[in-house]
Amino acid sequence: MPTLFMAIAELCERLEKMTRRIPMVDIVAEFLVRLEASEIEPAVSMIQGRPLPKLSQRALNVSWATLGNIIMRITRVDWDTFLKVLSKTGDVGAATMEILNNRGVRQLSLYAKPLSIADVRKSFEAIAEAEGQGSKEKKERIIEALLSSASPLEAKYLVKIMIGEMRTGFHEGLMEHAVSKAFNVPLESVQTASMLLGDIGLVAYLAKTEGIEGILKVGFKTFRPVKLMLAQTAECVAEAIREHGGRTAFEFKLDGARVQIHKLGQEVKIYSRRLTDVTKSLPELVEAVKENMQAYEAILEGEVIAVDDNGQPMPFQHLMRRFKRVHELERTAEAVPVKLFLFDILYLNGESLINLSYYRRRQILAEVSGKLPLTEQLVTSDEGEAENFLLKAVESGHEGLMAKKLDSKYTPGIRGKHWLKIKPTLEPLDLVIVAAEYGYGRRHSWLSDYYLAARDAETGEFQVVGKTFKGLADHEITEVTSRLKELAIKEEGRRVMVLPKIVVEVAYNEIQKSQKYKCGLALRFARITRIRYDKAPEEADTIQRVRKIYERQFLWKGRFKAGEHNILTSQKGLNHE
Ligand code: AMP
Repeated sequence: MPTLFMAIAELCERLEKMTRRIPMVDIVAEFLVRLEASEIEPAVSMIQGRPLPKLSQRALNVSWATLGNIIMRITRVDWDTFLKVLSKTGDVGAATMEILNNRGVRQLSLYAKPLSIADVRKSFEAIAEAEGQGSKEKKERIIEALLSSASPLEAKYLVKIMIGEMRTGFHEGLMEHAVSKAFNVPLESVQTASMLLGDIGLVAYLAKTEGIEGILKVGFKTFRPVKLMLAQTAECVAEAIREHGGRTAFEFKLDGARVQIHKLGQEVKIYSRRLTDVTKSLPELVEAVKENMQAYEAILEGEVIAVDDNGQPMPFQHLMRRFKRVHELERTAEAVPVKLFLFDILYLNGESLINLSYYRRRQILAEVSGKLPLTEQLVTSDEGEAENFLLKAVESGHEGLMAKKLDSKYTPGIRGKHWLKIKPTLEPLDLVIVAAEYGYGRRHSWLSDYYLAARDAETGEFQVVGKTFKGLADHEITEVTSRLKELAIKEEGRRVMVLPKIVVEVAYNEIQKSQKYKCGLALRFARITRIRYDKAPEEADTIQRVRKIYERQFLWKGRFKAGEHNILTSQKGLNHE
């Protein structure tokens, strides 16, 4: 018997009301056990708010404006009514459900076949596949049919999945626990397989169909990107040395885009930090890897930065132009030259290297990379030497340093203390635009004043911590304006509320206590330093982190005044003032 989509909607509804993690894991595990094999990956993806498999490289490509219009048509209410309900519920999916309930619009006719998980996935695939002329209408027809055959509760979750806003608090880490429990596979094995496959949905499918043997067999495969190892923050070089047991490897932290490079024979593909295929955007790097890389088969990691005519690093915005203008590739390649610096190797000629130490991996990387440069590195136990190295990095136009524990393994997908980033300023925050206001004068038709929010790690809610109209160039403002218009959910005078999708990096001078926003804190002199197209809203900084920086800044300020911290005192002007 195919499982009904209603079962997912009911499960998510229960999750939404729960706060304790163990019972949440339990009910999801019980649910997964009951599914047919073919339903597992779609269900796992949908519970996490994803319509399609994580690594499918496909998207529904439906704007909020389109979806909103369909909801209006189906519910037969006008925008004003919808927005009133929305401001009460605060959630587009919940608003859709409430209106359907209130109006007694019962779409599901007695004779209609109830929606199964498979039906819903098929519709999502058809929406993603509709391309080219007439595709917008086709997508709309499919969505309308889908929502019309859904009950109000199902419609709530269909909408949430389509816009990728699940907000039940059931994140990927908890899903790994649920899969482990459901199919009786040790958690650690599930986590490893999830890092290697990059998709917990596929892991769940394997666990169901092949059990522990299947999970243990998962290995590296070229052209299947794996999750990246992530870094935590250290206050200063001394902390990094201490944390890493008295001696560590510092590398320049470059201000560019992280890439994972896969090579098999003469075929090379490059994946972004979000594991999307960006090979076409970086043709000269593909050539450079083909020419220089000594290995037949390898998975490598590095950072791509934009450089000027003299090979000097350029700000990140220049680099992003390379990823956007896919149709004008050659011209932009000339206008925005880039350079690749490698810093890790995960796989070589059929063998995984992730269990080797960082030190050994770096040696191997140096042996196989030919003329491709590696990030500049200094292994030291000396604080003074490390501080000079940090200064050198910053003076050469880089962001700071990364400290890497010499004997550490590569742990994909994990943000641990084995990699520590050190930036010499009050570190910028990655925040999400949740609302924007039209500007004045020259900017009157642009959404140029932005409300910036941090994510609450506990609830998934976005909380405003600041507002700014500073930092973006005119062409960026017009671009952000058109993207925000597509994401708009509500207008209040000059202010437009938007779905939280656009991540921006924000610099500021201080975090203050303030009654202005619900969270009780506000950024002072916030300004946007770049648009983080490479980051998803779930990767934005958390409100917990903002609080931590708030508390920590007193420590910094104390040092700053006393002139104890020579890096800080020598870095005036780095704040992008
Ligand atoms: P953040 O984006 O601030 O969390 O910092 C981590 C990012 O720094 C990584 O994802 C890389 O894109 C980048 N990065 C720059 N230089 C290095 C390096 N030498 N080693 C590792 N990551 C680096």
